[in-house]
Order: sequence, then C-alpha cells, then structure tokens
Amino acid sequence: MSAKILYGKEFAAQIKESARIEIEKIKNKFNVTPGLAVIIVGENPASQVYVRNKHKSCEELGIKSVVVEMPESTTKKELLAKIDELNADKTIHGILVQLPLPNAIKSYSDEILNRIDPMKDVDGFHPMNVGKLVTGTPALVPCTPAGCIEMLDLAGIPIDGKHAVIIGRSNIVGKPMLHLLMARHATVTVCHSHTKHLAEITREADILVAAMGKPQFVKADMIKPGAVVIDVGINRIEPKKLVGDVDFEAAVEVASAITPVPGGVGLLTVAMLMKNVVTAVKLQIGA
Ligand code: NAD
Repeated sequence: MSAKILYGKEFAAQIKESARIEIEKIKNKFNVTPGLAVIIVGENPASQVYVRNKHKSCEELGIKSVVVEMPESTTKKELLAKIDELNADKTIHGILVQLPLPNAIKSYSDEILNRIDPMKDVDGFHPMNVGKLVTGTPALVPCTPAGCIEMLDLAGIPIDGKHAVIIGRSNIVGKPMLHLLMARHATVTVCHSHTKHLAEITREADILVAAMGKPQFVKADMIKPGAVVIDVGINRIEPKKLVGDVDFEAAVEVASAITPVPGGVGLLTVAMLMKNVVTAVKLQIGA
C-alpha cells in the first residue's frame, strides 16, 4: 500500500483563494484594505525567508504588507514602542513578531507578544486568544495547527471519533492542535519528551501529528497501518536538505495519507496567516 500524499500546495491555494474573495468583499463593501505588519528583529536567515514568503502572499491577495526591519541591537523598550505604534495604526489589522527574537531580548518574548492588541494578533499567541481557543470560542488561532485541521477538512478526512496522537506540546503547535482536534470531537493523546513507551501510543493513532523537531524520528513501526500522518517538523539536515519528523520513505508504505516535507504543512501555515488577517479585519470593522 502506498499512502495518498497530501501536498500543501493544493490546499494552500484553496485557502488563499477563499481569503482573496473575502478580501475583495471587504474592500468593496467597507472600503477597507486589510493591512499586515510583520516585525523582524535581527538577521536570522530562516526568518528572513519566512517573512519574504508572508510578504509575497499578502501582495498576491491584495493585503497591504508592511515589513518592519529592526536591528539586532533593538531593545525591549524599542520593540514594545513599535508594537504600540502599530496597535494604534488603523490601516494595520494584523501584527506579528517573527520568532525567534535575538538572544538579548529572547527572554522577554512573552511580554513582547502579549503587547500586541489581541484583535490584531494574527499568530494567535496572545493569552486572550489562547484562552478563547481553550474555552471553545476561538477567534485568532495559531496558523500551523489551524492549517492542519483545514487540510484534513479539504482532503475529506474525518476527525470526529478518531484517536489523534500528537507528538509535541509546544504553545505554537502541540497545545493548540490538542484543542482544535478535541473541539472536532477527536479523542486526543499528547506525547512529549517525558512520555514513556511512545511507539505503543503512536501505534494507536488514527491521526498522528508529529511536531517534535527531531529529523525522521517517527519510523514505520510507530504508525498504525492506514493512519493519517501529519508531519509538522521542519529540520535542516544538510545545507540544502529539509526533512520532517517522520521517516517519509518508510511511512508512506504504512499510512493511508501523509504530508511531505518540504511541500506539506509549511505552505498551509502562510495560507492560514492570510485567513487570520481576514478574520482580524472582520473583528475590527465588525463585519
Ligand atoms: P518545540 O521545540 O517548541 O517543541 C517540541 C516538542 O516536542 C516538545 O513539546 C517536546 O516535549 C517534544 N519532543 C521533543 N523530543 C521528543 C521525543 N524524543 N519524544 C517525544 N516528544 C519529544 O518545537 P515546535 O515549535 O513545536 O516545532 C516542532 C517542529 O515543527 C519543528 O521542527 C519546527 O521547525 C516545526 N514547525 C513547523 C511549522 C510549519 O509551518 N510547518 C511551524 C512551527 C513549527
């Protein structure tokens, strides 16, 4: 058996197209052009690529995109002042601070992210948005896990009643994924670095989400035959080679559907950001 490969490109195109239609409606009906500001501090090459991709997607869809480049030496006070300025800017509906921050201000990441107006928090990291997700009234939801759910829906893969196992409990992926899957009536198990007998648990999964950041860690014998495997991991193993957290070549023979890396979940993340910008505009203009 060889699994169906869930290419992010086709799903991302569908998500972006529906965002584009919404943006056109907002422009026509409310005379508002959605605006996204991305703050990048320092010169992390991976972050620069991510920011460029976000900028490009905005331009494709008719979102005004502002990239705020701040030097490595930026202080917490300067960054907070910039966020305050963007919070007050009526032409900006979404704000995100590209992570990771430089070492000198990294420890203030929470304080910095919490300064973003929750209605403009298109990354969905503000405690207010996290709280809404947990209590079942989601507003702005982290893009990567939200993209995984959207992909399952678009691929016609049922979630209700399934056993989903997530490897990883980060605030960015694992934890929001738990709440999104639970809200869709999956039975969810979250595994992490202290989990014992990991393979026994992953072998129970109808839907297995790998979000641990360990290259090709999930082997074929950790996957139940016929399971749906979502590989969130992005790991650089050679200067030009990216792999996921799943041993794709082997897993593709066991799973019923699987996302590739690259070309899988990563593309959905940017598409969902565009969707979150639309949601943020609607929240702010009361559409
Ligand atoms: P993280 O380092 O914050 O969290 C990793 C999690 O994996 C932790 O909860 C840890 O307990 C768990 N873990 C680590 N080793 C483990 C082990 N041996 N057994 C079981 N659990 C283990 O990482 P993150 O920010 O959640 O990112 C995870 C991966 O997803 C990374 O490769 C990252 O690059 C990728 N990522 C991709 C996207 C995307 O757009 N596709 C977005 C965010 C993160």
